[in-house]
Amino acid sequence: MTNDLIAMLKTLKKRWPNPGAMEIGNPYQNLVGVLLSARTRDEQVLKLMPGFFKAFPTPEKLAAAPVDKIESKINTIGMFRQKAKNLKSMATDVVEKFGGEIPQTMEKLVSLAGVGRKTASVVLVASFNTPAIAVDTHVHRVTNRLGWVKAKTPEKTEEALLKIIPDKSKKTVNQVFVKHGRYLCIRKPRCWACPVADQCAFKEKNLEPPKNAEAILEDIERRETILEALREQAV
Ligand code: SF4
Repeated sequence: MTNDLIAMLKTLKKRWPNPGAMEIGNPYQNLVGVLLSARTRDEQVLKLMPGFFKAFPTPEKLAAAPVDKIESKINTIGMFRQKAKNLKSMATDVVEKFGGEIPQTMEKLVSLAGVGRKTASVVLVASFNTPAIAVDTHVHRVTNRLGWVKAKTPEKTEEALLKIIPDKSKKTVNQVFVKHGRYLCIRKPRCWACPVADQCAFKEKNLEPPKNAEAILEDIERRETILEALREQAV
């Protein structure tokens, strides 16, 4: 079973070779990016990052900033008022509890205001090379469809995946399934373009390519190219 999972992860990594959209910069920039991206398109977050980090280059600067100034740097994205407040609280915690350094363990990361396990897992993997699996709605849906886990909630999926995926492969899980879930394993899945369709347990596969299949695939490539270009300029 483990070998099958690793082989599938390798196949998916070939299909989705780019890192996660918020795998950028130093741990502080990485954490801010993940917090800003909640329920917001990655493209929108990446676009505002250069201005944001020019204004608030360190946790200290962010902690000291008035909330309305933080708001003014992120008001192009959804829930910007709430996010501005959360960012200030998070930065204040980092300064007061951890001397201005982003902490490197799950326990300490989730003690920061507004930081949950999913956010902490992305930071652990991307910034500190520590095995963790960030399970969002995409990772949850796809791994359940594939038959890797049978879990009702993302939290249960994370628990199950942590047990069955070896440490050295944990980083890849979020990277490939977020993209796979966003582009191919969508609500009505595009199994006709899925490189692991033969090994997938999902019973309602959609294997018939639509007339505009080529245009769909071109659009996916275009979106990934744009995302990578934005990611490279973000910090
Ligand atoms: S075969 Fe279909 S349901 Fe299974 S992982 Fe691929 S896209 Fe998703």
